[in-house]
Amino acid sequence: MLRALDEAGRAVAGGDVPVGAVVLSADGAVLGTGHNEREATGDPTAHAEVLAIRRAAARTGQWRLSGCTLVVTLEPCTMCAGAIVLSRLDRVVYGARDEKAGAAGSLWDVVRDRRLNHRPEVIEGVRAEECAGLLTDFFRDR
Ligand SMILES: [Zn+2]
Repeated sequence: MLRALDEAGRAVAGGDVPVGAVVLSADGAVLGTGHNEREATGDPTAHAEVLAIRRAAARTGQWRLSGCTLVVTLEPCTMCAGAIVLSRLDRVVYGARDEKAGAAGSLWDVVRDRRLNHRPEVIEGVRAEECAGLLTDFFRDR
């Protein structure tokens, strides 16, 4: 999560909301990292999780990230939750809950929807205050 928090901090330089993500292999190696780049790139899908997943898949040469864990500072949205299911990640660890748009337990629970063919384990609330604090500071400064 410290690595994800570090990534989140990098988003601010590009004018983006500070959210960071890291994909780890089964043995804990970093396979991909990402931070929000929506403003920086003009790409509506450039969320931290999607970027980290794409980079991890490129690194491993496989779309299936079985055995891997995604660590992200904010609860994933519906798009990212979909990407998590499609990439077959084993586990999602997130910091702050997103009561307005979260899709891993708050507003929706896409990642544990029994109608889908893959359901990763979800661990929430890791360093939640630090993760939420980054967002609070960012929006207060705007
Ligand atoms: Zn997202």
